[in-house]
Amino acid sequence: MSFSNLGLSDKVLAAVAATGYTNPTPIQEQAIPHVLARRDVLGIAQTGTGKTAAFVLPMLTLLEKGRARARMPRTLILEPTRELAAQVKEQFDKYGAGQKLNVALLIGGVSFGDQDSKLMRGVDVLIATPGRLLDHTERGGLLLTGVELLVIDEADRMLDMGFIPDIERICKLVPFTRQTLFFTATMPPEISRITEAFLHNPARIEVSKPATTAVTVTQLQVPAGREAHDKREILRRLLRDAKDLNNAIIFCNRKREVAVLHKSLQKHGFSVGALHGDMDQSARTAALDQFRKGEIPLLVASDVAARGLDIPAVSHVFNFDVPHHPDDYVHRIGRTGRAGRTGTAISIVTSLDSKSMTAIEKLIGQPIPRAEGDYTVRSESSDEDAAPRRSRGREGSRDGARGGRKPRREREPRHGEREAGHAEREPRQDHEPRRERVAKPEREPRQGRNTPPQAAPSHVPSIGRAEPRRPQREVDHEPADHSHLPAFLLRPVRARA
Ligand code: AMP
Repeated sequence: MSFSNLGLSDKVLAAVAATGYTNPTPIQEQAIPHVLARRDVLGIAQTGTGKTAAFVLPMLTLLEKGRARARMPRTLILEPTRELAAQVKEQFDKYGAGQKLNVALLIGGVSFGDQDSKLMRGVDVLIATPGRLLDHTERGGLLLTGVELLVIDEADRMLDMGFIPDIERICKLVPFTRQTLFFTATMPPEISRITEAFLHNPARIEVSKPATTAVTVTQLQVPAGREAHDKREILRRLLRDAKDLNNAIIFCNRKREVAVLHKSLQKHGFSVGALHGDMDQSARTAALDQFRKGEIPLLVASDVAARGLDIPAVSHVFNFDVPHHPDDYVHRIGRTGRAGRTGTAISIVTSLDSKSMTAIEKLIGQPIPRAEGDYTVRSESSDEDAAPRRSRGREGSRDGARGGRKPRREREPRHGEREAGHAEREPRQDHEPRRERVAKPEREPRQGRNTPPQAAPSHVPSIGRAEPRRPQREVDHEPADHSHLPAFLLRPVRARA
């Protein structure tokens, strides 16, 4: 099957040819003709399957006819996170370069004024996170009554993040007669209910069984003690020992752990970024850009921040914490082994994780073997999180002194480690005002599948409103608490010019 048999316009076919893609992926092959026939679609597919182009390409074809009116977008795409929204916009920019379409992004952390003037000019494609979209409709700057096509992407993620009530509100603001394209990686009961309520006789397309892991990913586990410092030491050894490690995402279950691990790895000379839902938008974008470009080979991340992101060539995924939900394991390791590439996923497993591991192995239908090599942490005082003031050679002898192991030989820095001593030489920046370091609350917190009830952190200032009724948009597994973190850790990473 080639793209030319799917009914796409000549302009869109030319744009696809320019990207070098020759054949549609299964979700594209199956979904595109239905979208072009104006049918509702229920796509059960994970990121990495080419599902974004499965709606972007036919939308571009459909949008060739007609014009946008001020404040009344013609199509609307809902994404759970700002990064995913930005990623979809990139695809419109790539495939729609030959068309004069107005594509606008409505995400938090960006000024209302700029977004408002874009809406005023008329928008063909509006890509939004639910909270910011509702903020605009409540302010009267946006009318959804002209929406002909609605895309709800990553619906199960929306559920996890507590966005379903927002989605239901938005669905009531768009015309009943619109076409709806609905994508989800899994079908929990709440998502089934929504598809029944908001889709009309959809074409159901399931490209791979939900919750399967790519066969190209080697999955391993390493046993560890319960102490976080033991796990950090094991992680460092794994990073140093890993074969063919080009870049890696290291997942933690909590935002706080992301920050602690990030700091620890930096102190140990690794070149590493961090990504979690509490960082401000510029820091998140900068960390992601640097990781994508290969400027930082390691990224410590929480599930909320990392899910669904398309980072094409990740060689390794480390689960510093075993995820509590087996679905999250599948999503995490799906960051590697994408598009047929090989990858390695290594989980650091403590005795507290045995239930979670059993659930994961049941879900993926296979046992996860133990990694070769001895990663036992033998010393009580293994917390090396004091900055290593020694050369790598001395670090080796320190290992020997602690664990009775042979001293490591002097060696070149590997896998994201900076030159020895670099961490100490890097000048620290002065403290930034605290206000800039916290997530900007936009809407009220909502209960998600995975989010326990929690109060909005009292230190989070309300932006642009007298009453702090807006919550943080993205909720990790625990409330944010910055008080224990040194200021430099919370400083936004400066984007390169
Ligand atoms: P997605 O599932 O939309 O996140 O896409 C995953 C990756 O597959 C992206 O990097 C796309 O650029 C890429 N991709 C999309 N369509 C195709 C195709 N037909 N052939 C090869 N790669 C593709």
